[in-house]
Amino acid sequence: MDNERVKGRVQKPGKRVKNFNEVELGFNDEEALKEANRCMQCKNPRCMSGCPVSIRIPEFIKCIKENNIKGAYEIISESSSLPAICGRVCPQERQCESMCIRGLKGEAIAIGALERYVADYAINNNFKFGNNKKKNGKKVAIIGSGPAGLTCAGNLVKEGFDVTIYEVLHKAGGVLTYGIPEFRLPKIIVEKQVNMLKELGVKIITDIPVGNAITLDELSKNNDYVFISSGAGLPKFMGIKGESANEVFSANEILTRINLMGSYKNESKTPIKRAKKAYVIGGGNVAMDAVRSLKRLGIDAHLMYRRGMDELPARKMEVNHAKEEGVVFDLLQNPVEILTDENNSVIGMNVINMKLGEVGEDGRRSVIEDDKSIHKVECDMVVMALGTSPNHEALKGSNILINEKGLISVDGTKTSLDNVYAGGDAVTGSATVILAMEAGKKAAKEIIENSNR
Ligand SMILES: Cc1cc2nc3c(=O)[nH]c(=O)nc-3n(C[C@H](O)[C@H](O)[C@H](O)COP(=O)(O)OP(=O)(O)OC[C@H]3O[C@@H](n4cnc5c(N)ncnc54)[C@H](O)[C@@H]3O)c2cc1C
Ligand code: SF4
Repeated sequence: MDNERVKGRVQKPGKRVKNFNEVELGFNDEEALKEANRCMQCKNPRCMSGCPVSIRIPEFIKCIKENNIKGAYEIISESSSLPAICGRVCPQERQCESMCIRGLKGEAIAIGALERYVADYAINNNFKFGNNKKKNGKKVAIIGSGPAGLTCAGNLVKEGFDVTIYEVLHKAGGVLTYGIPEFRLPKIIVEKQVNMLKELGVKIITDIPVGNAITLDELSKNNDYVFISSGAGLPKFMGIKGESANEVFSANEILTRINLMGSYKNESKTPIKRAKKAYVIGGGNVAMDAVRSLKRLGIDAHLMYRRGMDELPARKMEVNHAKEEGVVFDLLQNPVEILTDENNSVIGMNVINMKLGEVGEDGRRSVIEDDKSIHKVECDMVVMALGTSPNHEALKGSNILINEKGLISVDGTKTSLDNVYAGGDAVTGSATVILAMEAGKKAAKEIIENSNR
């Protein structure tokens, strides 16, 4: 049936909730071909207008139809340096797939799954990116190795720049490595994508906190250009009573410990406390990743969100996976106090019920507290997933302009400092992988234009 998309293979809920292995298993050759054959090769491909990095979607799908996966990969990699990652975590349902003509009378083409198929094939068959241009003698320092920094690096090194990324953590990849869990984005995939960039000539120095070990001004003096892509890794808290209790964590801390330090493994030297019942507060991708991770540790994992199911900002697919895995959704509720015992350990929360109000200027429905509804819930762990803001350690000592929202001020991607550019979450606040990549691509373009003047 042409109106229905081919369903990729998925690990069964009962099994996957006991492991951290990838949930979505992707298309095999036959499934990819069948799905590619649903694409109508539109003369006016609306799907492309929904892709922030303008991948030539119908052309790469045509190559799959013709069993020319190398050709498909070459087309994708002209626009994206991280297709195996985008194919897995981009919100395609709100981007390219939301624009696909097929979606008008049935299900949109599974563009993300096809992109992933091609990218995984390329990794497994050791495909290389095209050749770099001749070295141009210009040096670029990049702060942070998340998707913005990696994309900028890839685009510049191909043009002949000498590129070095400075990363504070011991592994490259930014949120792709320390934030998004293994069951959504296997770390081996991130490593392989990073290695492909290294093979192109990108140098990555880890364990270097810019702002302390070396300053932005020093990097600026020693290089022709600097690109700041230090992300937005500072977690927000609610500011309610009891939040300093021993078992209150940020989602970032939980996920970093699980992803970077393997805290979910029994032999881990830094194990995560195996609570009986935990509440994750929030409704975005980060909240969903945290609550599904806790569920996999055998914890009775609840998600508490102040709006309803339809308003959850997380990807629908992740919400459905969480439901199948047995995560409990406590919606239209919000904590007002965390309750503790004499040892400052969490024993529960006082929670208020919420009602949805009118749609506000931000396009979201407002929430109204029902003062008479405060009630107690029991738990022994609370995880805050309320969003993050940029940590400006990297900017220490410089007089770079920061705007009233606490974000680096840019014109295009150019900052207030000579030859210093910035992009990704450090400029927008926490957003998406593809928007960070788009910013990295744009900064590379502006640097190239500037160097040609
Ligand atoms: C748990 C989680 C799940 C998410 N899920 C999705 C999803 O499903 N789909 C999606 O599109 N987006 C998702 N996002 C958002 C997405 O990952 C981010 O928008 C994106 O990674 C931002 O890229 P970036 O390159 O700007 O920053 P980051 O990925 O944050 O990378 C910044 C890098 O800079 C480094 N750094 C910071 N300060 C310094 C310093 N002083 N010196 C040196 N290095 C420094 C950091 O260690 C980090 O490696 C998720 C985010 C989180 C936290
Ligand atoms: S809009 Fe959909 S059907 Fe048309 S070319 Fe794009 S992916 Fe194919």
